Amino acid sequence: MARVFNFSAGPSVLPESVLQKAASEMLDYNGSGQSVMEMSHRSKVYEEIINGCESLLREVMNIPDNYKVLFLQGGASSQFAMVPLNLMNKSGKADFVLTGQWAKKAYQEASRYGVANVVASSADKTFSYIPELDPSTFDKDADYFHICLNNTIYGTRFTSLPETGDVPLIADLSSCILSEPIDVSKFGLVYAGAQKNMGPAGLTVVIIREDLIGNARDYTPTMFNYKTHADNDSMYNTPPTYAIYICKLVLEWIKNDIGGLEKMKEQNERKANLLYDFLDQSSMFKGTVEKECRSLMNIPFVTGNDELDKKFVSEAVQKGFVNLKGHRSVGGMRASIYNAMPVKGVEALVEFMKEFEANNK
Ligand SMILES: *Cc1c(COP(=O)(O)O)cnc(C)c1O
Repeated sequence: MARVFNFSAGPSVLPESVLQKAASEMLDYNGSGQSVMEMSHRSKVYEEIINGCESLLREVMNIPDNYKVLFLQGGASSQFAMVPLNLMNKSGKADFVLTGQWAKKAYQEASRYGVANVVASSADKTFSYIPELDPSTFDKDADYFHICLNNTIYGTRFTSLPETGDVPLIADLSSCILSEPIDVSKFGLVYAGAQKNMGPAGLTVVIIREDLIGNARDYTPTMFNYKTHADNDSMYNTPPTYAIYICKLVLEWIKNDIGGLEKMKEQNERKANLLYDFLDQSSMFKGTVEKECRSLMNIPFVTGNDELDKKFVSEAVQKGFVNLKGHRSVGGMRASIYNAMPVKGVEALVEFMKEFEANNK
């Protein structure tokens, strides 16, 4: 069976070698006579998988020892509540930069628990840029400062981090985690739903500085308290066992096949440049965001003509390029080119776009 080139924003493409390995181990994981899906999460054999996943993540991301790695459920969306419940605990205030729908959802959810302050927003231009930040406008008393590092829907990303001083910087990394190295020590907490760059849906990864654990509000549900999971090595209840196993295979792929995050970044830049360079010289297709803010992972583009956009998307499907339809709030097209999208997938897409342009002059 031929595999398509899948440009889905999430859940998204996984490395083929990971899927093959998972398939080969489906009925009998490592001589255990069971699928990973069937085994007790408290068994010795599973313990090796979850511990292996954590140590690989620590190694690949170079996570400092004073940070805990938590394997949770509930998606990045649950973090929109977990972060304020656990961290909005001194002044009851937090700062937010609104760079898209996810950032806005994090802000709105936090507003239910305390004073959420918008320090900057790019809503005025459909979130097509990252606003300039002036640290003198940041609240020195804020319990945290929240950003969404890569904006999945609009295709922008922060290329430098806000200077928040002693205020912990919190970031939603759902659509850029593992795409390039980041300095974890600059953050108090980062979180990501796994289904874009780490593995299947169902797993949410939280990396939290230890001193931020243990101050949740009294009424915080046990399952929403970071301390519950930190104290129990993500085994307070049944973790998303199979998703963690796939995440471990993805991390092995990044480490062994790609060669780590520096190399991953090079490959991602190469892919993104292929597409951006084409967009910049095309007379039909245009990127929708300011150049300095362009995402490496999500690339929205339009022809400026809705009918032509539709025709492009449907012809693309026939050629094996799927999930290129843009988010309803931006229209047009969006190519999500996460880690597992091979260079040849982007090359083939650009070839197809050239052809389409020539045939529809
Ligand atoms: C996909 C996404 C989310 C939502 O993730 P869920 O796991 O579905 O809750 C949040 N933030 C960003 C940046 C995303 O890309």
